[in-house]
Amino acid sequence: MMKMFDLDQELKGVKRIAIAGHIRPDGDCVGSCLGLGLYLRENYPALEAVDLYLESVPERFRVLEGTETIRTSYPKETYDVFFSLDCGDIGRLGNAAEYLHTAGKVICVDHHISNHGFGDVQFIEPEASSASELVYLLLDDKKLSVNAAKALYMGIAHDTGVFQYSCTSSRTMEIAGKLIDKGFDFNELLDLTFFQKTYLQNQILGRALLESMLLMDGKCIISALRKKDLDFYGVTGEDLEGIVSQLRNTAGVEVAIFLYETAIQEFKVSLRSNGKVDVSRVASYFGGGGHVRAAGCTMQGSVYDVLNNLTLHIEKQLKAAEN
Ligand code: AMP
Ligand code: MN
Ligand code: MN
Repeated sequence: MMKMFDLDQELKGVKRIAIAGHIRPDGDCVGSCLGLGLYLRENYPALEAVDLYLESVPERFRVLEGTETIRTSYPKETYDVFFSLDCGDIGRLGNAAEYLHTAGKVICVDHHISNHGFGDVQFIEPEASSASELVYLLLDDKKLSVNAAKALYMGIAHDTGVFQYSCTSSRTMEIAGKLIDKGFDFNELLDLTFFQKTYLQNQILGRALLESMLLMDGKCIISALRKKDLDFYGVTGEDLEGIVSQLRNTAGVEVAIFLYETAIQEFKVSLRSNGKVDVSRVASYFGGGGHVRAAGCTMQGSVYDVLNNLTLHIEKQLKAAEN
């Protein structure tokens, strides 16, 4: 665990700030970046720029006030401070990394166990539920607006599977309580951003479940979607969030593997575990990363190559856990 820093101290004399999160942004990524961005804009009037950068802003997150200010292109700019949020390594910042390289100071706030640490100031806590939880700890609750609170709440709720995963601590719940005290419709927020699926998203989920297979005496479940399937339903990677969690919800399953084809012989892999297998170790081996119970990577080869490689590592860990 790395020590928390004093935000006011770090921002002394600073004029221009950039905030960015990982590529293929999820709820925690959007929530932590927007929460911090709004807080800085609202409370530090001397700042000349607080620019937010994300690769894209999935449509469902647009219900948050301020998402319209998030930049998805990368003009030539330089910054005094660059915040990297919810990002386990520099490579996952995508194009925003160019601002990191030219910034006066880099501040990394993250909760990935695979994060080896980067930046001049680091606040990395793998036990934390989310980057949004860590961002909250840096802020003064009295100065937090309802819009910033809403963004952080969404981030925490998404990364904890709405407070069900083991990364949920009493501190997480206390912070969530403080955030809802700001007064917003959290029920509607979670319905719109987490639970609700479009018709096509539900169809592709159904397809993935139908075509799933059990391996290792039912301890591992796999499902893979080809590019032609995604094209048939007219969906993209963003529409597939939640499929791997649904696979993991199968009784008896320890590890769920979900992959989808991103290019010829290239797959985005999502791994989920109930705790016996450290999927972050498996994903890290193949150049990705994440957490013990949720991790991801990108792999090359045929679907069979990818599954063979992954299951070999998972089976090894399962056997070790059983002995
Ligand atoms: P996902 O399966 O994409 O929902 O990701 C699960 C977790 O693993 C998230 O915390 C991601 O940030 C992390 N993760 C996913 N893909 C990668 C990758 N290629 N490299 C590092 N971490 C990843
Ligand atoms: Mn994330
Ligand atoms: Mn996160």
